[in-house]
Amino acid sequence: MISAGIVTVSYIAATILFILALGGLSSQETARRGNWYGITGMTIALLATIFGVVTQNYTTLMVALLIGGSIGIVLARRIQMTQMPELVASLHSLVGLAAVTVGFANFMHPGVHLEGVELTIHGIETYLGVLIGAITFSGSIIAFGKLSGRIGGKPLMLPMRHWLNLALLLGAIWFGREFVLQSAAGGGMDALIIMTVIALLFGIHMVMAIGGAGMPVVVSMLNSYSGWAAAATGFMLGNDLLIVTGALVGSSGAILSYIMCRAMNRKFIAVIAGGFGTGGGTLVADSAELQGEVVPISAVDVAALLKDAKEVMIIPGYGMAVARAQHTVNEITKVLRAKKINVRFGIHPVAGRMPGHMNVLLAEARVPYDIVFEMDEINDDFPDVDVSVVIGANDIVNPSALDEPNSPIAGMPVLECWKGKSTIVLKRSMATGYAGVQNPLFFKENTQMLFGDAKETLDEVLKAL
Ligand code: NDP
Repeated sequence: MISAGIVTVSYIAATILFILALGGLSSQETARRGNWYGITGMTIALLATIFGVVTQNYTTLMVALLIGGSIGIVLARRIQMTQMPELVASLHSLVGLAAVTVGFANFMHPGVHLEGVELTIHGIETYLGVLIGAITFSGSIIAFGKLSGRIGGKPLMLPMRHWLNLALLLGAIWFGREFVLQSAAGGGMDALIIMTVIALLFGIHMVMAIGGAGMPVVVSMLNSYSGWAAAATGFMLGNDLLIVTGALVGSSGAILSYIMCRAMNRKFIAVIAGGFGTGGGTLVADSAELQGEVVPISAVDVAALLKDAKEVMIIPGYGMAVARAQHTVNEITKVLRAKKINVRFGIHPVAGRMPGHMNVLLAEARVPYDIVFEMDEINDDFPDVDVSVVIGANDIVNPSALDEPNSPIAGMPVLECWKGKSTIVLKRSMATGYAGVQNPLFFKENTQMLFGDAKETLDEVLKAL
């Protein structure tokens, strides 16, 4: 056992390291360092908790750590970059589940004897922890299903769904009140169970009602919820580090949700109320523009176009992740830059299936950071671009977001590559993207389509170069 003083100092050190980790993760150059801060902080936090806070049941703890740690190592080794969004969603669900189980365990065996106001406050902490945990758990499971394609992207639009949400919310509040009152008199288990079931249903219904294009907000919102669930668990257990860490995750997730909403030009409430990107509006599939001609191009011709260009903009999307084409993209970039062609990358905030998805892939392939730009930084430059290469992207380059008021993604800023001299789109078919919306870009006069798996077609382009 280590002393309480050392535990406090360790917790303060861990907190500082977590804050430094968040700071480091805010830019690609410092992200690796940020990760190391996080790993070190977490190691200190674990050691201080194991040797300074836990006083009994060491065997159970070691078995749990061994099982949890082994699952973590196997997952981290096996999971492909393309499966990261689902992995993140499933990890959020575990934080929610932990908050629920800790809440129940803590309620059944409080450890300390509380009375009066303290007991009421503890009841409220337990209630909030279980409530947020249950919503995070079931919501993240549905998000996992939607991101992995096991559950369709189409939102579930139940009749009177807003009333249903309101009823569930009021039910959760009512049974929470019952729980706090009854727990003061030694009861409350029934109310806690009913409240948990209501919260689980609320989580399911909330995420089921979100359309494809609203998922980035849901992912970051669940990230935020998982933080608040952890903070609530910290209050239940009286663990300061858990409270601070949870609050850090909760607030950074909330900021991320705000950034995602701004990227989609949507109000947070509008997204959460459901229906954005439903395919429910007038699909542009029927508009005259989509009856135009699709012009295919060969890999050899793409290479020739690129060789003649001075300004090239590469726009990666989810399909680049699926094809695992990022390394070939980097090779092509190197060849073009060696020919004194200015190559830049344009990254849409919601490209891929998780915030920062494309940045992670490009960093993994060692694409230099200084040629990777956010959408806002380069969107005005397209008129000067000779060739835009859209690699497995669809929704993020869809002009109907700007000029089709009835489109489900109307109003979302997109990368306006069609304003350049020519655009090459790499994808396997004419299928729609995640939001289920047809894309008039493919029919524009200055667009040509390179059909096939992006890795295979880019390998051919590289060979021809
Ligand atoms: P999209 O999902 O719009 O389009 C991806 C395109 O890639 C598809 O049209 C597909 O066409 C193509 N593709 C798939 N596999 C391959 C392959 N092996 N080779 C070549 N092409 C391939 O992706 P975007 O990145 O453009 O947009 C992201 C979408 O995901 C947005 O709607 C966003 O709201 C949503 N989203 C984003 C999240 C985030 O946090 N970033 C989270 C959840 C959802 P084809 O099948 O014809 O090949």
